[in-house]
Amino acid sequence: AKSCGRNNFQYYISAMSARALDVLYMENALHTALDNDEYYLEYQPKLDLKTRRIVGVEALLRWDSPQLGCVMPSNFISALEESGDICQVGSWVLETAIAQAKVWMDAGRPMVVSVNVSARQFKQPDWVDEVMALLDTAGLPPGLLQIEVTESLLMDGADRNEAMIRALTQQGVRVALDDFGTGFSSLSYLRRFPITELKIDRSFVVDIRKNTTAYKVIKTIIDLGQALDIRVIAEGVETPEQYGLLAEMGCDEIQGYLLSRPLSVPAFEAFLDNFGGG
Ligand code: C2E
Ligand code: CA
Ligand code: CA
Ligand code: CA
Repeated sequence: AKSCGRNNFQYYISAMSARALDVLYMENALHTALDNDEYYLEYQPKLDLKTRRIVGVEALLRWDSPQLGCVMPSNFISALEESGDICQVGSWVLETAIAQAKVWMDAGRPMVVSVNVSARQFKQPDWVDEVMALLDTAGLPPGLLQIEVTESLLMDGADRNEAMIRALTQQGVRVALDDFGTGFSSLSYLRRFPITELKIDRSFVVDIRKNTTAYKVIKTIIDLGQALDIRVIAEGVETPEQYGLLAEMGCDEIQGYLLSRPLSVPAFEAFLDNFGGG
């Protein structure tokens, strides 16, 4: 069975740095990985702090390489972006996540499934049409799919990107602004793009303690989200203290190791059962 356990090669790779690996070998291996069925997704739950229900999951890509073991995305996404294979792999991620969302919906446990998107993928002509076609084929209501984009992705070619985000949200697809607060002009992005969710970057959550700057920044983001009617989720929540402060400030959702690490489908379903049916 596929799993990303602690004893895997990912530690070796990060220790020796990705640069030391043969780049050509990597790109070739990443290319054949799709045909060889070596990619899979893990799902990390998102908890609604008001209803205390699991309302969604973020789909996170993993590569189970026969040579390297389980490889984490920080070690291969940039290589996929450089070769352009991210487009094909990204389509596979979308299709797989959408199919999984349909399975959960049919099982009476609807989950908003979030998918990360790379700039290269987003720049493809007709990408919005592809997303809508995948939803249509699977029979998934667009509201159960969320696309996670970053400010840097939106920055380049803002007019076209604005039209794409608008087309997605008008058809009911949700759009989250990921790693919020780490960019240069976050506020202008909120005004321009009709996004439906803000993800407060983990770097703020790590430092949150009452009356710290991080605390005040997060409080301001939460208040802003409420004023603009945009849901706010905090990522990277690891401690009960962080959870308590976020709940007190009125944050809508949390995601992080405190609740759960990213899980395989069966592990996530077991998690849901223990949680009380989702
Ligand atoms: P991200 O979108 O910011 O995803 C959140 C990352 O934080 C994930 O790392 C997740 O496992 C990790 N994380 C979640 N909770 C905690 C926590 O409490 N503490 C800590 N320290 N970490 C936590 P992961 O899975 O290694 O993914 C890294 C990045 O790779 C993602 O960052 C995303 O930018 C990218 N990525 C993952 N899957 C895909 C994909 O399918 N397509 C694209 N284009 N990028 C992807
Ligand atoms: Ca993300
Ligand atoms: Ca993020
Ligand atoms: Ca982040």
